[in-house]
Amino acid sequence: MSISQAIEKIEARYAHQPEFIQAVKEVAITIQPLYDAHPEYSALKVFERLVEPDRVFGFRVNWEDDKGDVQVNRGWRVQFCNALGPYKGGLRFHPTVNQSVLKFLGFEQIFKNALTGLPIGGGKGGSDFDPKGKTDSEIRRFCYAFMRELHHYVSKDMDVPAGDIGVGGREVSYMFAMYKNLTRESTGVITGKGVGFGGSLMRTEATGYGAVYFLENMLLAQNDTLKGKKVLISGAGNVSLHAAEKVNALGGMAITVSDSQGTLYDEKGLNQEKIDWLKKQKQQNKPLADYVDVHGGEWLAKQKPWQFKADIAIPCATQNEVNEADAKLFVENGVKYVVEGANMPLTAEAIDHIRLHRVHYAPGKAANAGGVAVSALEMSQNSVRQYQTFEQVDERLKGIMKDIHDSAANASEQYGQTDNGYVDYMAGANMVGFKRVADALVAFGILN
Ligand code: GLU
Repeated sequence: MSISQAIEKIEARYAHQPEFIQAVKEVAITIQPLYDAHPEYSALKVFERLVEPDRVFGFRVNWEDDKGDVQVNRGWRVQFCNALGPYKGGLRFHPTVNQSVLKFLGFEQIFKNALTGLPIGGGKGGSDFDPKGKTDSEIRRFCYAFMRELHHYVSKDMDVPAGDIGVGGREVSYMFAMYKNLTRESTGVITGKGVGFGGSLMRTEATGYGAVYFLENMLLAQNDTLKGKKVLISGAGNVSLHAAEKVNALGGMAITVSDSQGTLYDEKGLNQEKIDWLKKQKQQNKPLADYVDVHGGEWLAKQKPWQFKADIAIPCATQNEVNEADAKLFVENGVKYVVEGANMPLTAEAIDHIRLHRVHYAPGKAANAGGVAVSALEMSQNSVRQYQTFEQVDERLKGIMKDIHDSAANASEQYGQTDNGYVDYMAGANMVGFKRVADALVAFGILN
């Protein structure tokens, strides 16, 4: 069966899952040269097998709010593919979560995890629970209730969740506590744990730092550096603020961050002091807009950060946050590099537009793989019960991001996708990730 036939099939079967189809097509359009070079892939229907998750668990989560009212949410865990290792991927708590979103994230996670070169398969999970405006005790009760169900489906060598949007250190701690309570096992069943009880140093920083390490490698390939470059960043969560921190540390200038309420613009750049202030503000759930009273700059209510002139953009908020009109702004404003800190932040039309204009583009599955890579390092530290220093983990992360960059660039070159110095990282990353998984599936025959 050809790739296009497999696509037609899933478009018919999952017409109601647009994000999932978008993610599948993005991979499909770039891997044809690899597929042509490996007839065993079509003989064993590797693509058709990979677009169907191994299994999807759906469950109800009952919990009690502070008024004593019973609340009912939906929860899911998508175990997509464990060809390379235990299912691995985060949990997202957000009202937009549904099966389409989790399947797109799980599908991307297969190839992202393969790109890290570490032994982890792909999975994702979460709930339509909205953490916004909830008290700490409500979050705690929800996390306990969620893990009371989820624990049936996860374990340290089989499926290892972590955080994602709406799930950070606090939520991971509550869920880990419930897992331990139910199983009486103290294992690394979830990553992103506190450093005092099994977490890895640098896990919090890893996604944002990793994205900027990837960017450094892209710049290096063009004989350039971050020094003095203006960077637009969206989002104000973990990924975004740590990306801004690393940009600043490496001599660049992050000039925006944003949230669902609007964009903060500071033409003087976000230095460490301002970033520390932002971290604290976000931790306390206080508005980003307050920044202007303390540090100056401008608050643009209900606006995105893409209207400003800059050299680089790092979208770190959520899927499809950058549409074609935004992509046109990138080109008009002189943006030369777009690095996805979030998962699938660019729509298909936005990707087409920037690639057409030869804007260097790093897809999320390559550029934001640093988070899950350090999660995998947390898993190995848990298994051997020995812990590494911040510097050791940071060195590993730098090495992993460089390897992802170089292998994607080499594949782009090898399959004729590099043209006059323009590296097609999207094609390269998809082919490298896909090949690693496909070769394992071929080795296994038709099981898996
Ligand atoms: N949610 C993150 C991602 O999208 C991290 C997953 C993990 O650490 O397992 O890759």
